[in-house]
Amino acid sequence: MPSSDNPRLILTPQPNEFILAETASFISALTELKFLGALLYESNSESSFECGDDFLHKISFLGCSPTLYSDAGSDLIIRVLQSSQLQFFHCHSMPPPRCPHCQKTDKNWSDIYQLWQQNNNAVSVCPHCQKEFNFSNMKWKKNGGYGKLLIQIHGIQEQLAVPNQTFLSELEATTDTCWEYFFAE
Ligand SMILES: [Zn+2]
Repeated sequence: MPSSDNPRLILTPQPNEFILAETASFISALTELKFLGALLYESNSESSFECGDDFLHKISFLGCSPTLYSDAGSDLIIRVLQSSQLQFFHCHSMPPPRCPHCQKTDKNWSDIYQLWQQNNNAVSVCPHCQKEFNFSNMKWKKNGGYGKLLIQIHGIQEQLAVPNQTFLSELEATTDTCWEYFFAE
């Protein structure tokens, strides 16, 4: 099982609260699309896979070969997980997230994050526009994000690979909802 703090490309449905009744048929669809390869690890909430034969037709690497982006001695690993609690992931070095109302950055976001960890319904007030918001609505661009259903591709550094439009359309067709992506480590 890969550690949770290595570089990842994460795909998640655009309504971040989106959840499937069960993930088995979703995993079957991703296997049929040859995005997922052999199963490596399985538990109640997540499954890990090798890359499937068509993986490189679905994820575009910018510049060089994907092997450059894997940790030495370990290949890319794809984890599919679903959680009833909204999950948050982010990159360590990044600009602070933005207020969902006025779009201004908030350097003290980690306080808001801590509050949210204690209570997912916690309301915070923007120091710039004084409007209320929930941490899960903060704007991260591609360096952070939220989701309950997540495809995490471990071993991809920030901004070095992106899902192509065909794959995003395949995900949408499989789940009846739009998908987005971001990076984390
Ligand atoms: Zn604001």
